[in-house]
Formats: sequence, structure tokens, C-alpha cells
Amino acid sequence: MTHSRMDRPGQPYLDTYYTRTMEPPLDAAPLTERVEADICIIGGGIAGISCAYELASAGKSVVLLEAGQIAWGASGRNGGVVGPGFAADGAAIEKKLGLKAAKKLFDLSREGVEIFRSYTEKLSLPGVDMRPGGLLVSRYPDAQAMQAYARKKTREYGYQLNYVPTEQLRELVHSDRYFDGVYDPQGFHAHSLNYCLGLAREIRRLSGRIFENTRALSLERQGADHLITTQNGSVRCQTVVACQGGLVDGFYRTLQRTLLPIGTFVTVTEPLGSRAQEVINTTAAIVDTRMACDYFRLTPDGRLLWGGGMTGKALEPANLEQQMRRGFTSVFPQLSDVKIDATWSGLLGYARHRMPYLRELHDGIWAATALGGHGINVGPLIGRLMAEALVENGQRHKMLDPYDLTWNGSVFGPLAADAVYHWEALKERYYEWRFA
Ligand SMILES: Cc1cc2nc3c(=O)[nH]c(=O)nc-3n(C[C@H](O)[C@H](O)[C@H](O)COP(=O)(O)OP(=O)(O)OC[C@H]3O[C@@H](n4cnc5c(N)ncnc54)[C@H](O)[C@@H]3O)c2cc1C
Repeated sequence: MTHSRMDRPGQPYLDTYYTRTMEPPLDAAPLTERVEADICIIGGGIAGISCAYELASAGKSVVLLEAGQIAWGASGRNGGVVGPGFAADGAAIEKKLGLKAAKKLFDLSREGVEIFRSYTEKLSLPGVDMRPGGLLVSRYPDAQAMQAYARKKTREYGYQLNYVPTEQLRELVHSDRYFDGVYDPQGFHAHSLNYCLGLAREIRRLSGRIFENTRALSLERQGADHLITTQNGSVRCQTVVACQGGLVDGFYRTLQRTLLPIGTFVTVTEPLGSRAQEVINTTAAIVDTRMACDYFRLTPDGRLLWGGGMTGKALEPANLEQQMRRGFTSVFPQLSDVKIDATWSGLLGYARHRMPYLRELHDGIWAATALGGHGINVGPLIGRLMAEALVENGQRHKMLDPYDLTWNGSVFGPLAADAVYHWEALKERYYEWRFA
């Protein structure tokens, strides 16, 4: 089987559900001159856009450089599932930090969800189309654990979750693959490409400058400032914020050594029309409990959008569409004859501990990245914390300090990530076989 390399920034947007339903692209010109700014942000995904928006709102002069187009990477092609938490498992965070600190971090992650929601509403961002509800589902009978999880989050974290028993779950999701569920009434799903495009327009309205098709090539110190060089221009600034996601490319080697690019896949069917209700009878986004989970939802125009799978190799299988069809028909065999309209892959940036990096790496050079599979809430949060740190010497970002930069394992990192994924998948299959 042949594979193709994933994600080469600088190319046009991929054909995805999101690009088929996107607002007009920004079409910002590339940088062709020398400019100056207080802050230069590298990368125009949800992390970079959120940082730029918050900083421009606070009156800072901001330049954002994007190698491709706004939200060209993970931020413009993800599952669209928005809920609190981080890519690291909540129980692992609590084990490391204790309940009190874990709850504070969880509250931060909730703030990220609320920022996304409130900006979408307050700024009337077009085409973001938020739809309510999040539903976590188990692939084997697991009532006790799911009830305990809902109880713990509700009582100890102050976040209301409702247990959904099998019978009720199957009225919402018409598949005998799932047994127990936990419903999150505050979660939702949305079009994060349109969110980024809307916020990018707001950044410009606030006089922030955005340059697309402009890769940051090098960074050097010049007196008290930094100089970032691009192919046809340069930016002189006091502060640099690196927000390159999983697409680290040698611009800043410290980050390249500490980020693991992990690939994952999404497919979208044709509109299902009246058949949609035979499959899913809720507006909620659905995610299963496995480490490399399946996540799916009905889009506002009635398609099944289905995501899953993971690879540390950053390679896209040649038979990806077939693989994705196998995935969703194993849950919804009633959809075996539907047409697939688009299938795509994307790269996420992970730290080994699966928590974001938000810290000053050197004098005036910040990392705001490693959002993992939870970027739609963590991106807006990072923007807020970054602005607090730079504008009013805020310290809330220090709550993430226990999660330091970790070596990505070099060539062994992706192999280790694949091994963990396959091991976890094997364990989950065993549980399914044993308990189902
Ligand atoms: C298939 C998929 C499904 C996902 N599903 C969900 C989900 O349902 N819910 C959720 O919360 N999260 C999800 N995620 C994760 C989420 O999308 C990411 O965490 C988030 O988008 C990362 O944002 P980012 O800004 O850090 O990176 P990106 O969005 O990857 O943006 C980084 C940008 O930096 C640019 N860049 C890189 N190098 C340079 C350079 N040298 N100069 C200039 N620009 C540069 C790139 O072109 C890119 O546009 C998913 C991700 C994928 C791939």
C-alpha cells in the first residue's frame, strides 16, 4: 500500500467539508517589505489567531505570519467538537497535580470553551454554526465507570454531566456498538475554519496585520528586538509567539525537538436527508471513550462527519476513504451505501505529556502550542492567557508550568506514539470482546 505525505503548508486549502462551507478566504497578501510591530505571531491556526486577536484588542501592534492560508492546518479541518478539558486525560492531570490544581486547570479549559462561544456570538462571526451538546459513549457495558465519571465531574469539578443509560443512548445514536453514555449539555460543535476566518477579519479591523503565504524562515536577536526573516521581507519586533501547531518546520528548533506531529483522519458523507434521523437523533457531537477515539456528528446540512484513527508517521494511507468507510459502517451498517463527499487528514502537535506549551522559552520568545486533540477550546484560552502575560504581566499561564518542554524522542517519538496507540487499541478490543 502506498502512502502520501501529510500537510505541506503553502498549498491551497484541502477539499474538506469545511472548505466546501467556508466564508470567503482572507486572501491576505504575502509580506514583501520590512515591517515593525510589538509582537510577531508565527502561525495562523486557532492558537495564533486567538493570540493575535486578544493582543490587538489590548492595543498592541501585531503582525501574524502564516505559511499557507488562515487555518490551513488542523484548525481548519478538525472534528469541530468543542468541550472542556485538555488532550491529557483528566484523571492523569489529577494524579499529577492533585484535585485542587486539576480543578483550576479544568476551569481554565472551560474558559476556553466560553471564549469560543462568546466571541462567536458577540462578534456575530458568520458560518460558525454552533450546535449544542456533547455525548461521550462507551463501546462496552461500563455503567458504573460512566456514572462515577459523571458524578465526579458534577460534584468535585462543579461541571454538570448526565449519565445516559443504554436504552436511552440507543434512541439518540442508533447503533448497537455503544452501551453507556455521558451527556454534556454545555458542549457543542462548530465550524472552526469559519471561526478563525471571522476572528482574522476582526484582527484586521483592529489594525493587526496578517500576511498569508509567508513562512517565517529564521529568527535572530537584534539588540533588544528580534528579527524574523521571510522569503521577501522581515519583521522586527519585541516579542515572538510561536504557534505552529503540528507543522513545525525548523523555524525554531527548540520546538521542533519537543513537539510530536500526530496524524488523524476525517470523512464526510453526502447529505443523508431523512435517513439522518435513522442514524443520529441528537444535535450533540459524539465521542467514544478510547484513547484514539472515533468522533462523529451530523453537520448542520445533515451529513455524517466521522473522524478517527491516528498515526505518528505523518503519512496518509492510499486507501484512506475505504478505511474511513469501514470505520463508520462498523457502527452504522445502515449507511453502507452512502456516498462519501470528502476525506482528509490533518496533523496535530502534541507534547509527550499531552498538555499545551505556553511559556517564555527565551527572552521575548514564547511558545503557545501543543494543543493536541483539544485545540478548539485550548486555542482561545491560550490567546487569553498570552495577552494577560504580555499586556498586564498576568501570571495565570503559570498554571501550566508543571508541564515543561519534553523531548519528543526524535525518530523514536513517532514509533513510540504508534506503539502506545496500537497497545491501547488492543486493550480496548479485548474489553469489547470480554464485556460485550
Ligand atoms: C483531523 C483533526 C480532528 C480534530 N478534531 C478536534 C476536535 O474535534 N476538537 C478539538 O478541540 N480539537 C480537534 N483537533 C485538534 C485541533 O484542531 C488542534 O489542536 C488545533 O487546531 C491546533 O491549532 P494550532 O493553531 O496550534 O495549529 P494549526 O491549526 O496546525 O496551525 C498552525 C499554523 O502554523 C503555520 N506555520 C507552521 N510553520 C510556520 C512558519 N514557519 N511560518 C509561518 N507559519 C507557519 C501552518 O501553516 C499552520 O496554519 C483535531 C485536529 C485534527 C487534525
